[in-house]
Amino acid sequence: MICKWMWYSFFLLLGLCLVGSCSKTSQEGLVHKHGIKVLSTTAMIDDLVGRVGGDRICHQVLIQGEIDPHSYEIVKGDDEKVSGALVVFYNGLGLEHGSSLRYLLKTHPHAIALGEEVKDQVPSEMILLQGKLDPHIWLDISLWQKTVQPIVNALVQVDPEGQAFFEANAKTLISELEAAHKRVYEKLQKIAPLKRFLVTSHDAFTYFTRAYLATPEERKENRWHLRFQSPEGLSPDGQLSSADIQHIVDHILKFGIHEVFPESNVSQDSLKKIAKVCEHKGFPVFLGPILYGDAMGKKNTPAGTYVGMIESNADVLVEAWE
Ligand code: FE
Repeated sequence: MICKWMWYSFFLLLGLCLVGSCSKTSQEGLVHKHGIKVLSTTAMIDDLVGRVGGDRICHQVLIQGEIDPHSYEIVKGDDEKVSGALVVFYNGLGLEHGSSLRYLLKTHPHAIALGEEVKDQVPSEMILLQGKLDPHIWLDISLWQKTVQPIVNALVQVDPEGQAFFEANAKTLISELEAAHKRVYEKLQKIAPLKRFLVTSHDAFTYFTRAYLATPEERKENRWHLRFQSPEGLSPDGQLSSADIQHIVDHILKFGIHEVFPESNVSQDSLKKIAKVCEHKGFPVFLGPILYGDAMGKKNTPAGTYVGMIESNADVLVEAWE
């Protein structure tokens, strides 16, 4: 009887150990029993960090689901997540501008702004809109790929023994990202240039437009801007004026655009207003399927990974424009 009870206890303990996960609060400090604790502000960062760190890290995302990362303010438990992580990765370039989150990131001893790292590598590739840096670099895979080496560097600093492992993962990841970039580029460049005019909810798709929708000449001569417009500016938390609406309506009429694309985490109200104004002018404009701008899709859906999110956007546009 005693023996049977001991076996039962053993399996119960084993089960509890296996159930332990990254999301569990650790009492053991900054190195979790499942690896170094790493936090990323967005899912697009976390996806790459998870690929590089593999099972040597325990990683999680701060801004989950379809919440706007621009204006995100910390909620209960977030400060523990940030202070409990040995490394924190964030986008920077002004993306996370909620003051409470900005303060936490500023005061963390090992918080890496991946966008700033990319800016240091290729300053001329950064896009400025009304004098402000556009933070949406993840929507060009070839730029986002440049965050992989800074991720490796940061992880090696806290786990030098994992260097070869991180570098091998990074090599595989980079070749996958290169292939995905090429695939998306070729897919969209097959669409007639006259159709490749994109209107979405907010200014998330500038890097995407320059990388995938512009002609090679437009990109070379920096003339790609007219291929993308949105009513809501760099951050969807701003106020929308009637002049903003009129500006997009004029653009739609000028380029004969019949379909506009809402974003998964932004209200569709502004696009609906625009469609209504166009309809009154006798020019029907439809709301197309959603694009993923500031957030990935749900887990286990085609847009639930970083590459899947970009490919899903490309597929939606190809389907609409073909
Ligand atoms: Fe955005």
